[in-house]
Amino acid sequence: MKPAPFAYHDPRTVDEALSLLQRYGDEAKVLAGGQSLMPVLNFRLSVPSVLIDINRVSELAYIRHQPGQLHIGALTRQRQIEFSELVSLHVPLLHRATQLIGHLPIRTQGTIGGSMVHADPAAEYPTVTVALGAEFVVRGPRGSRVVAAEDFFVDYLTTVLMPDELLLEVRFPTVYSSYGQAFVEFARRHGDFALVGIAALLEMQDNQYRSARLATAGLGPQPVRLREVEQMLIQDGLSEVSRRAAAARAAELVEPDSDLHASAEFRRHLTRVLSHRAIQQAAARPEEIAL
Ligand SMILES: Cc1cc2nc3c(=O)[nH]c(=O)nc-3n(C[C@H](O)[C@H](O)[C@H](O)COP(=O)(O)OP(=O)(O)OC[C@H]3O[C@@H](n4cnc5c(N)ncnc54)[C@H](O)[C@@H]3O)c2cc1C
Repeated sequence: MKPAPFAYHDPRTVDEALSLLQRYGDEAKVLAGGQSLMPVLNFRLSVPSVLIDINRVSELAYIRHQPGQLHIGALTRQRQIEFSELVSLHVPLLHRATQLIGHLPIRTQGTIGGSMVHADPAAEYPTVTVALGAEFVVRGPRGSRVVAAEDFFVDYLTTVLMPDELLLEVRFPTVYSSYGQAFVEFARRHGDFALVGIAALLEMQDNQYRSARLATAGLGPQPVRLREVEQMLIQDGLSEVSRRAAAARAAELVEPDSDLHASAEFRRHLTRVLSHRAIQQAAARPEEIAL
């Protein structure tokens, strides 16, 4: 199918994009990489009368290292993130997760901002932001605001962004760069969205987990931090028994849905297996580096 007719605008600056959004409000849709929006338009699941194409708003495409944070502009392509040394060095979890997104043409067009605002619960980027406690910089007619990742994703394909707001930037803390990190997932075919994904960050000291952060993908309407599992790991130590107990608890805590792709029971099983694998990989990373 083809999209319903729409008026097309291609602003050159954030201010121009914002004034268009304000003028057209609910009638308008922002176009970034188009990898999620175009199928939605083609199937006429959304019929905006105005499309605001931000691809020429070059001030939104950047990766900048600031003290304690990595700032990534919303229009930055996933492929740029995949090959960014700043990302590999300061936010390795983001680098790893990017490699798991779709196929090369998708990452070449797809942007970090588009993935966040589309807010597919199976997508890798939202899970990475929740695992890391990233922040979103949003601007609209009422000014700018900074939203914590756990508050940004509110439901399936839904964020706190208002129709007249633009996502400008995602800010990742770099404090976790020395942690063991892993993003593991299970997809039916290479490049497909994952049925379940688990992000894990582990800090080890004196033969113990000093700090742990785990977050899910594909298990419910938005990514979730597994705080109880994190506490278990910290309290119960580094043993294989403690890893298995933590993974089993993760499977109990999640609330997956059954759909065409997998039953809730299978997703729970995957959660246990993948949580264990993620913890194992995140725990192994520093030893590998030491070798
Ligand atoms: C075959 C296929 C496989 C895929 N596999 C995966 C996968 O495995 N993992 C994964 O995570 N993703 C996957 N994707 C999705 C891909 O990552 C998309 O690129 C991404 O979800 C959307 O990014 P985009 O830049 O293309 O956004 P668009 O499609 O242009 O926009 C998506 C939504 O975000 C809004 N938007 C975009 N930018 C902004 C902004 N700055 N401010 C406000 N609103 C904005 C748009 O209005 C729209 O509602 C896949 C896509 C395809 C087609």
